[in-house]
Amino acid sequence: SARAGIVVTGTEVLTGQISDRNGPWVATQLLDLGVDVAHITVCGDRPADLTAALAFLAREGVDLIVTSGGLGPTADDLTVATVAEFCGRTLVLDSAVEATITDIVRSWSLRRGVDPDRESVRAATRKQAMVPDGAVVLSPAGTAPGVVVPAGADTPVVLVLPGPPRELQAMWPDAIASATVVDAIAGRVDLSTETIRMYGTAESELAETLREAETIAGFAELEITTCLRDGELEMVTRHAPPAAEAYRAVADMVLDRHGDTVFSTDGSTLSEQVATLVAGHRVATAESCTGGMIAARLTDRAGSSDYVMGGVVSYSNDAKSDLLDVPSDMIAEHGAVSEQVAAAMARGALARLGADIAVSTTGIAGPGGGTAEKPVGTVYFGLARADGDVVTRRLVLAGSRADVRERSVTVAMHLLRR
Ligand code: ATP
Ligand code: MG
Repeated sequence: SARAGIVVTGTEVLTGQISDRNGPWVATQLLDLGVDVAHITVCGDRPADLTAALAFLAREGVDLIVTSGGLGPTADDLTVATVAEFCGRTLVLDSAVEATITDIVRSWSLRRGVDPDRESVRAATRKQAMVPDGAVVLSPAGTAPGVVVPAGADTPVVLVLPGPPRELQAMWPDAIASATVVDAIAGRVDLSTETIRMYGTAESELAETLREAETIAGFAELEITTCLRDGELEMVTRHAPPAAEAYRAVADMVLDRHGDTVFSTDGSTLSEQVATLVAGHRVATAESCTGGMIAARLTDRAGSSDYVMGGVVSYSNDAKSDLLDVPSDMIAEHGAVSEQVAAAMARGALARLGADIAVSTTGIAGPGGGTAEKPVGTVYFGLARADGDVVTRRLVLAGSRADVRERSVTVAMHLLRR
């Protein structure tokens, strides 16, 4: 398949002031197109560093380089000039682009009470309208146009996109539809991606299964990555069409060994599955240690108002009693972090919110507050249904306060999926 490299520019990204949203986004898009992403590099605004990154990728023999950032009108925005020089092309003024930007800047300037014909404004516009000779220009989503520079003798196709994620994403469809980019990535073997998601299998157990799978014919043609995230284990396999049979054999082996923990083989996520399963129901939450994170996860999805009734964040004992009718003598007897209270919270949410499924959490997220009997990370979960069925679960989750809270959300979502 075609190979690509991504260069994210911007000192603010390099120094950690903002976290990169373009590299992962572009990588995902390219992978969906069957393009193999070999590198994501982050460099600052210094042209020499960008040139070095471009040179590295060209030496690596990638077919396509995508850059983000540095297209603005200011002096530190030098990506187009740097890419042009790297590709051995001169910058030429594109008067159609200049006219487009002039229009955009004019309405902006007038709104802000700035004279649009001021020389500094016109100079900034001219700078942004300078494009490498022979490049394809992509219409601006903000003020900066993107450019596609065709391949040269020693340089791959370079796709130059703006830094603001909204602008970059808006330009993407035009960018990949341009003939130059299509030529760079088309006519190659498409890689397919298969995902198996598990809940309850340890990474080491899966690793052992995969070691045994190495004897399967064609195993070496599979690119398998495993990733542990919030207590779920994900196995992603990328392969070319001839390796499909080898993948089936490996997948069968994984399903055979770990099938009871596999919850997704079709790429669907936990959130999607919960949404499908609870559709037509009325869901409520009663949260202590997760502080509303389950409700946030459930309502993350558009359309969740069809099934999410609401939730109660009952952090204090009083709130548990006042808002969820948990008897205070129950709290006194068993403690707020107990199976009994988790069950009562779920029942309370069910009744108070008129739901037919309610999930609850009460636990010790830490770092302090643990006891010998209930160490930090102890979380009780409750799931109550309108037919009177209530189940509870006790887990001792490892990690930091944030880890315990995030893992608790995953556990609660899996309870809802049952
Ligand atoms: P502008 O015309 O806005 O200057 P630009 O193409 O020159 O656009 P940059 O100057 O590199 O882009 O970045 C502008 C802003 O866009 C940054 O300050 C940041 O808020 C956002 N941004 C840039 N790159 C990224 C990135 N990789 N991830 C997330 N946000 C980014
Ligand atoms: Mg800028």
